[in-house]
Amino acid sequence: MSYTNLTISTAHQMLSAGKISPIDLTKHCLEQIEKTDPTINACITVIKEQAIAHAEDAAKRYKNGEPRGILDGIPLSIKDVFCIRNIRTTAASHILENFVPPYDATVIGKLKNAGAIFVSKTNTDEFTCGASTETSAFGVTKNPWNTETVAGGSSGGSAASIASGQCLGSLGTDTGGSIRQPAAFCNVTGLKVTYGRVSRYGVISMASSLDTIGPLARSAEDCAHLLEIIAGFDPNDSTTPQVPLKDYSMEAKKALPKYRIGIPQEYFGDALTEETKIAVESAAKVFEKMGCTLIPLSLPHTKYAVSVYYILSPSEVSSNMSRYDGIRFGPGPKKIPDDLQEYFFAAREEGFGDEMKRRIMIGTYALSAGYYDAYYKKAQKVRTLIIRDFEEAFKNVDALLTPVSPYPAFKIGDKSQDPLQMYLADTLTIPSSLAGIPGISLPCGFTSEHLPIGLQLLSPAFTEERLLQLGFHYQTATHHHLTCAPITI
Ligand code: GLN
Repeated sequence: MSYTNLTISTAHQMLSAGKISPIDLTKHCLEQIEKTDPTINACITVIKEQAIAHAEDAAKRYKNGEPRGILDGIPLSIKDVFCIRNIRTTAASHILENFVPPYDATVIGKLKNAGAIFVSKTNTDEFTCGASTETSAFGVTKNPWNTETVAGGSSGGSAASIASGQCLGSLGTDTGGSIRQPAAFCNVTGLKVTYGRVSRYGVISMASSLDTIGPLARSAEDCAHLLEIIAGFDPNDSTTPQVPLKDYSMEAKKALPKYRIGIPQEYFGDALTEETKIAVESAAKVFEKMGCTLIPLSLPHTKYAVSVYYILSPSEVSSNMSRYDGIRFGPGPKKIPDDLQEYFFAAREEGFGDEMKRRIMIGTYALSAGYYDAYYKKAQKVRTLIIRDFEEAFKNVDALLTPVSPYPAFKIGDKSQDPLQMYLADTLTIPSSLAGIPGISLPCGFTSEHLPIGLQLLSPAFTEERLLQLGFHYQTATHHHLTCAPITI
């Protein structure tokens, strides 16, 4: 039997009914990794023996009629920036290529307690800086829908691992679009949470005022199940507030109220391909048919978002990267210089790829004395204007509907030589990242070349349940999300 478009919800029903066992399901995923990964390159590390051992434990629990919940025995992949105790965690960088963390990230501990099984650590852009996984020190991840194109980034490995049937869900990170854009490119559902909704303890930082952690899966309902486990206050992460948690999967299935959905004109500009525009507009009509009202509106500061992001995020990246010196972390330089300063230079020169060096230089420049006010402080002020745009909009509407990306997956190599073009890939996801609000990416159709197209919904802070509900009802009315990539057939 084929498990390649099995959702977590269906798998749990089958496991509970004894129709499949966690061992079969895990072995199937590991076989699928063996079959597809030489082509796709979604995995940096495959976790074989441990996954089977954990599947055997889960099988016993099911046999005794005591599964720990819906995630028990479910094979997941994990982006390679989450610390899993005793499993190599690289951030797709040479500077961490031998790093084996002695502890679990908070969310990893929660998933382990829920009985989830980790089958792989997935590829990403180096330290999650990128939109295509082309900056990974472990090679590019190819898109399961067309292996000449990128899987998106930075959580490209996570999205591709789901789309190629290697697992049933994944955890990614989204700082400027890194869950939503690869989800859209690979026909997967991805949720970027409100800043602070999920603990980042034990997850390698990129830009600390923007980083979020969230699920990718085959449906909005599955994302709700994953969020239910990972969300919440953590004393180890002071950015997680004590905002009450919701029963996300139950909320998602509640009847859809007549939501007012805003359509921001700035997200439908010239950069959009015709096919993307048509697919997203017809998705909007689906919501209209379900009783929602579509309301055209404007978010006037949208055009500044990419510039603001590429001041603030490299500034934060540059300070976060300062800890990688080849002594506390990393293998250090091949030839050891006598001088300590030279040692640091050589370790970082050899350990970081070009994009990391570019971001460290941009960030160091923007933060330096004399330029700080002109760049960093100014960018912070404009960030506030972008936040206010959303606050104004949400006075009149319950959610916003936009494309995830102006275009579908692009060809490998098409943008990697031109950093500016790569930075512009996230034009439609970056504004909401700056505002810290949640967003969901839902499959909404295909181009004439069978490349997936993604729909983005945004809502006010700490209203993930609304996005999951909109997603659930959209996916009840449509079937794009269950269409399988050619590689799985
Ligand atoms: N592509 C964006 C960047 O390169 C976003 C990355 C992310 O969300 N991690 O910064």
